[in-house]
Amino acid sequence: MTRPPAVVIVGASLGGFRTAHTLRRLRFEGRIILVGDEPHLPYDRPPLSKEVLTEEKGPDDTYFRAVDFFEDQGIELKLGSPAAGLDGERHMITLATGEQLGYDAAVIATGARPRRLPGTEGLPGVHVMRTLDDSASIRSALDRARHVVVVGAGFIGSEVAASARSRGAAVTILEAAGQPLVAAVGAEVGKRCAALHDVYGTELRCGAGVEGIDRTPDGLVVRLAGGTAVGCDLVVVGIGVIPNIEWLEGSGIEIDRAVRCDRYMRTSLPDVYALGDLASWHNPRYGERMRVEHWTNTVQQSTTVARNIVASLAGADQVAYDGIPYFWSDQYGHRLQLVGRASGDKPVFVHDPSDRPAMMALYRDGDRLGGAFAIDTVGPLMQMRSLLVRNAGFDEALGLAADIE
Ligand SMILES: Cc1cc2nc3c(=O)[nH]c(=O)nc-3n(C[C@H](O)[C@H](O)[C@H](O)COP(=O)(O)OP(=O)(O)OC[C@H]3O[C@@H](n4cnc5c(N)ncnc54)[C@H](O)[C@@H]3O)c2cc1C
Repeated sequence: MTRPPAVVIVGASLGGFRTAHTLRRLRFEGRIILVGDEPHLPYDRPPLSKEVLTEEKGPDDTYFRAVDFFEDQGIELKLGSPAAGLDGERHMITLATGEQLGYDAAVIATGARPRRLPGTEGLPGVHVMRTLDDSASIRSALDRARHVVVVGAGFIGSEVAASARSRGAAVTILEAAGQPLVAAVGAEVGKRCAALHDVYGTELRCGAGVEGIDRTPDGLVVRLAGGTAVGCDLVVVGIGVIPNIEWLEGSGIEIDRAVRCDRYMRTSLPDVYALGDLASWHNPRYGERMRVEHWTNTVQQSTTVARNIVASLAGADQVAYDGIPYFWSDQYGHRLQLVGRASGDKPVFVHDPSDRPAMMALYRDGDRLGGAFAIDTVGPLMQMRSLLVRNAGFDEALGLAADIE
């Protein structure tokens, strides 16, 4: 009798959970083993910097499912047990405990971890924001904090700043670049994101490079290039992430600061797929290699990977992943969204009322629509997403935008 096929998924968070669940939805009947280094059941990260910090949700409300779900679905959980290596020839994953798991297909979904400021690791009062435990400790520190410094005005830093403001703290954001989010949305739209902080009383200092953080008897002191300093009781650092790929060293998987995948989300090893924050792949829609660190991309790639595993076990054709980048961010009760890419010279502001922060700007890619950014303009933004799916012209997007009220 032949044994049922086994899929080992490493990383028990968004990408890992979604792949396991989708495999069962596709009626995959073999073993599914979900390996995670965190002790928690799989949980969702977006609420961690938003509702968990503002106390609208408890940390426990972020779990995707209760433990019964995994038992009912026959998904074997190995939590609190990091994977330490992968042997492509033997089709084997080794855990830090020494346990070995044979696979017919493996999925790498170990995500990324926050970059830290050199010299601040372990310094009391200095936090990063990635995990449920990070969020729970910042949430409880906000009970006492009067002045919070956030280093980095990216989406995570901006959300933490907005949440801290809503808890009543004075907040200063220190951003090294001249505008927040320049790389993601360009300088003109970045200014609008900056203005939002101003409206809600958060101090945003751009061009402020942090040199170090000291702990003194009076609290924390954040030292800036140029000799100035900012005193505070709590620091949250949000300066980007590093893919968790070190455990794959020696596996033979091709790595280039990320796990390199083809258009089907397959790595350079047979039967090993990767997805989410750590995967770069060749996106046939753009004819380019890209890596995207956003929720929707991870979810869509999980679907592709689950389908391709089932197809490959059945000897059927693989499907390519050609997703359009998309993210949302919630700050001060406003919804910010970007779909597509901030391409072209200058965005065209197609919706820009003077009495509220709402806006929408379109980015051009030649004569095509390249992307759209919006604040509190959800319906029209989603219409732009549909236009991007069918590679619509820029003029058609302008025509559609003329109807926004
Ligand atoms: C605070 C926060 C808020 C966010 N908000 C938004 C938002 O509003 N909108 C949006 O579009 N995106 C948002 N994101 C991004 C989104 O959550 C990520 O893109 C998504 O979580 C990526 O999923 P992943 O499965 O690739 O990685 P992760 O979610 O990072 O999961 C990887 C898991 O693998 C584990 N792991 C690492 N190494 C090992 C190992 N060796 N063995 C076993 N397990 C390992 C990690 O600990 C982790 O549990 C947010 C992210 C954060 C951190």
